[in-house]
Amino acid sequence: MNAKRPLIAVLTGAGISTDSGIPDYRGPKGLWQKDPSAQELVTIGPYLDDPEVRRRAWRMRLETDTVGAEPNAGHRALVDLERSGLPLRVLTQNIDGLHQSSGLSARKVLELHGNLRETQCLDCGAVGSMADALERVGAGEPDPACRECGGILKPRIVMFGENLDPEVLGQADAVARACDVFVAVGTSLQVFPVAALPYNAVKTGAKLIIVNGEPTPYDEAAAEVIREPISQALPKLVRRLVLERA
Ligand code: ZN
Repeated sequence: MNAKRPLIAVLTGAGISTDSGIPDYRGPKGLWQKDPSAQELVTIGPYLDDPEVRRRAWRMRLETDTVGAEPNAGHRALVDLERSGLPLRVLTQNIDGLHQSSGLSARKVLELHGNLRETQCLDCGAVGSMADALERVGAGEPDPACRECGGILKPRIVMFGENLDPEVLGQADAVARACDVFVAVGTSLQVFPVAALPYNAVKTGAKLIIVNGEPTPYDEAAAEVIREPISQALPKLVRRLVLERA
């Protein structure tokens, strides 16, 4: 037999990391609902224009230690899915790096919004370590500059007002169109272009499964909608997917 093997695509959003203590910035209980001025710290215009915004942003990064966060049962379920041998790609909107630290192979993960554990220079593009930059902030440099060229440093993430990396987005779109099951986990599916991924998956014949506490615009197009907390729902769903395909 030479049947085409199935591909499972899993899109993850902030909801998978809330059980690791990382706040959902956009969600109903999110940080920006409580403090809208925090949003300008991650918006490219004010960040570029205003050194005081950058100093506040670096202080916030120093104080909110997401680098110390640990993966939870939801992340580990996806590691189990990879180890089952089923072809898998994880497309993540998260910048916390928790899929990789849970043990998922880095080559299986596409980071649509970048990774907070690295910095990037806005002038020369040099990539560095966030831990190093935060060490400099802690040692008294309120707005550490690029060591290569003196330019402005930002986390290597897609800020508000910036476009997603077209190459990463193109790869994610190819995965969405090639998969036969598309699982959307902990994401509101309201922000384009990422919200186009489940659309293109369904259009090309994939089965859509949604795991999210709140309704999404795709619930009616989904074969299944799961409202249970993610760290409980995902291990069960993974076991079922593995059994179905055994
Ligand atoms: Zn530079």
